[in-house]
Amino acid sequence: MSFSAGSPIGLGKSSMSREMSGSGAFEESGPFSPAAAGAASQGARPVKEESPDELLTAQLTEQLSEAFLGGMLSSKAAASSDSTSPPADLFPPASSTSGESPREKGEAWRLSSMLEHNHQFTQKRSYEPFLTGKLPDKKLVVVTCMDCRLTELLPAALGLKNGDAKIIKVAGAIVAHPFGSVMRSILVAVYGLGAEHIIVVGHHDCGMTGLDPAKILTQAKAHGIPAATFKTLASAGLNLDGWLSGFSSVQTSVQHSVDTIRNHPLLHCVKPDGGSHSRKTSEVAPAPAQQQEASKPPITVTGFVICPTTGRLDLVTEASPEIEDLLQRHKAAREATQTPAADAKQ
Ligand SMILES: [Zn+2]
Repeated sequence: MSFSAGSPIGLGKSSMSREMSGSGAFEESGPFSPAAAGAASQGARPVKEESPDELLTAQLTEQLSEAFLGGMLSSKAAASSDSTSPPADLFPPASSTSGESPREKGEAWRLSSMLEHNHQFTQKRSYEPFLTGKLPDKKLVVVTCMDCRLTELLPAALGLKNGDAKIIKVAGAIVAHPFGSVMRSILVAVYGLGAEHIIVVGHHDCGMTGLDPAKILTQAKAHGIPAATFKTLASAGLNLDGWLSGFSSVQTSVQHSVDTIRNHPLLHCVKPDGGSHSRKTSEVAPAPAQQQEASKPPITVTGFVICPTTGRLDLVTEASPEIEDLLQRHKAAREATQTPAADAKQ
């Protein structure tokens, strides 16, 4: 990955080929770019009779504004309240939902059940076994998939407990954009919270393997999104097919995410050969006065694939000699103790 001038953050189009045309076309910052929002705003101005496309764009802008503002308001409300009592007006008890549809009743029941559990959880001080600090004790960042089979399996399989690691979950464990929110979370974990090791953990049988964007868009239509919306988004330059594409190989995807992290201009990472990555953007050596003396060790970045059934972890990227040696010793120990029955389950 290289970075070139010509865009606001120095990202050349050619260097971003995967991010901008592949699965991460609009990752995290969202498909609704400022430019698109600006274009949408133009359509929202009632200066002349609006075309159907312009009207639709205006509606989208309004909906997005409400969505963003709504999110911000609820975030602020949550942040400003330290009360443990549930927001009753948002989640009415099941008894008050008699006039609602079965689906709404079911939803109200689930929320009521969850809130009741939460009340009991706090009343019984069940949180005490989970108390820990916010700095990751193992100085570890885990980027992994949102697959629900991994919710408890992955920490258990990796021997992680509350407070050990920063776990960043994203569909497919994809670090799609070097300046998206996943990468920002990694930088915060490293520079704000003291993490020194990053692992990317994809998994077999991932929903992002061979993800068909057409199926996603068909589902969106089935949920009532009008066909004109897709046309408007396409005319605004949004490549929904690219954005909603998955990957053909989880190993290749993990390797790509690892490379994105290792080559990031704001991270000083260990190279697989034991050195550390020099920034491609600084191939022209800086003047001595500009050089910074590193007082912190470089960051290690390693890629794995986990089995969502057995929790078995396999290395899929090159690792530094130190980590490779450690992994080999673990592998040898594992093979020495592996029973035929356990082997048959793999
Ligand atoms: Zn997955």
